[in-house]
Amino acid sequence: MSTPSSSTNPTPTGHPGAPTGRAEGPTAPRRDRPDLEDALAERFLRYSAVVSQSDASATTVPTTEGQRELATLLAEELRALGAADVHVSETAVVTACIPSTLPEGASAPVIGLCSHLDTVDAGLSPVVHARIIEHTGGDIVLNAETGAAIREAEHPEIARYVGDRLLVADGTSVLGADDEAGLSVIMELAARLLAADAGGRATGAAATAGSDGTGQGAAAEPHGEIRIAFVPDEEIGLRGVRTLDMDRFPVDVAYTIDSGETGELVEETFNAATAELTIEGVTAHPMEAKGVLVNPILLARRFIARLDPEQTPECTEGREGY
Ligand SMILES: [Zn+2]
Repeated sequence: MSTPSSSTNPTPTGHPGAPTGRAEGPTAPRRDRPDLEDALAERFLRYSAVVSQSDASATTVPTTEGQRELATLLAEELRALGAADVHVSETAVVTACIPSTLPEGASAPVIGLCSHLDTVDAGLSPVVHARIIEHTGGDIVLNAETGAAIREAEHPEIARYVGDRLLVADGTSVLGADDEAGLSVIMELAARLLAADAGGRATGAAATAGSDGTGQGAAAEPHGEIRIAFVPDEEIGLRGVRTLDMDRFPVDVAYTIDSGETGELVEETFNAATAELTIEGVTAHPMEAKGVLVNPILLARRFIARLDPEQTPECTEGREGY
């Protein structure tokens, strides 16, 4: 999920949908894996160049062709990496499998990894011009011409990332870290695991995988089966995941990789619903308005005034509803 106010944030960023349970709090970002950072950033820049906003007004799934384009790209990459059971459904759901490398007779729970193809429509340009900056502290200027910036006074969390390289947008669009970041993480994990597994098969001995994911170097850990699902149209009411064929995603447990702080694990969240309220007024000339004119804006004001102002995302935490 995303909101316009947070969506121009760099990755990593706080998730705007208040999670109700945090198994792990944020930890300091790791800065000892520049090769991994480069690989993730390269993927992020490539995937975010595909325009993949969802469109709440459309009735199809996917609601936009860009999501299908991104689904096709990811499926092609997964096939090239050597993933099994790679499939793109009519609704642009991508599923794939990283086969188990456990020895005969051993078993482990099948783990699922999910993320979503769409980015939120925040009323900005759908075209993302992401770039990498060195965060030296203070405000992060996204666009010197328009003055668009992530201000430390409004987002004090950016101080935690001083000294880091960050991915940011140019202030004309959302960054789309939600959930291009999730896609990048899962794809990079798949690339490294599959390369390591292939190294093991090729030598017929302990699999080898280097820190650069080329299959050279350290021994690969045996792992159970891992299933991947990328779904469209998450931002507009989870429409895409409802079309996921669970026969193609037979998992024991699954994790969604979405926007969050580095090291943060969220174990539960809330349900959300949208209601549309239409207020029709009655037009009248001011001379004959008394007892006749109904101003819908003033009626809306009365309606909003009856809602509890404390039951809002900014005033609640944990399991408090709003
Ligand atoms: Zn998301």
